[in-house]
Amino acid sequence: MQSGQAQIKVVLLGDSGVGKSSLVLRFVADNFKIDSDSTVGASYMGKSLQFNDKTIKFNIWDTAGQERYHSLAKMYYRDAQAAIITYDITKRESFEGLKRYYRELQEFGPKDIVINIAGNKEDLVETEAVPPEEAKEFASSIGAIYRKTSAKTNYGVEQMFRDIAAKVLPDVS
Ligand code: GDP
Ligand code: MG
Repeated sequence: MQSGQAQIKVVLLGDSGVGKSSLVLRFVADNFKIDSDSTVGASYMGKSLQFNDKTIKFNIWDTAGQERYHSLAKMYYRDAQAAIITYDITKRESFEGLKRYYRELQEFGPKDIVINIAGNKEDLVETEAVPPEEAKEFASSIGAIYRKTSAKTNYGVEQMFRDIAAKVLPDVS
């Protein structure tokens, strides 16, 4: 079997404040900031993970605050193999927003894009506003992976990217 480096383009979607940039920072730099600046942010970060016989590089595209104006350019979605649509488990309205991002992906995204729903801020589970069963049901209704994450504690973050890799590249494990 041949080893080599595969690349996966991942785009982040979700309302402002749900923790998209924090998830990227945690995954890429294993870091967390209490007051992240929602308007200034690198729009692209790369990180590689080792799998059995392969290194996979994730090219992760984050918004630099444009989601506030509902103005993500179509370019953003181009050639993406995966999308992470994030909501904040303590904010019901951020969950309601998932459907809009899903529609946008269907309209502008590649047809076979792998979708992951991230219920972020798992560390605040005592104030969870969306029953996990409901979130799982929505995810399965659109053929998406569902996972709870916390950029703060690192819960579920790397595993989410591993799930994505396994679905985008089925020969990876
Ligand atoms: P974005 O607008 O979606 O990029 O969200 P940010 O990454 O800027 O995060 C918004 C706020 O939520 C910041 O104050 C973060 O520190 C906070 N935050 C992000 N992820 C988590 C998390 O997992 N747990 C908690 N408690 N706070 C988080
Ligand atoms: Mg951000």
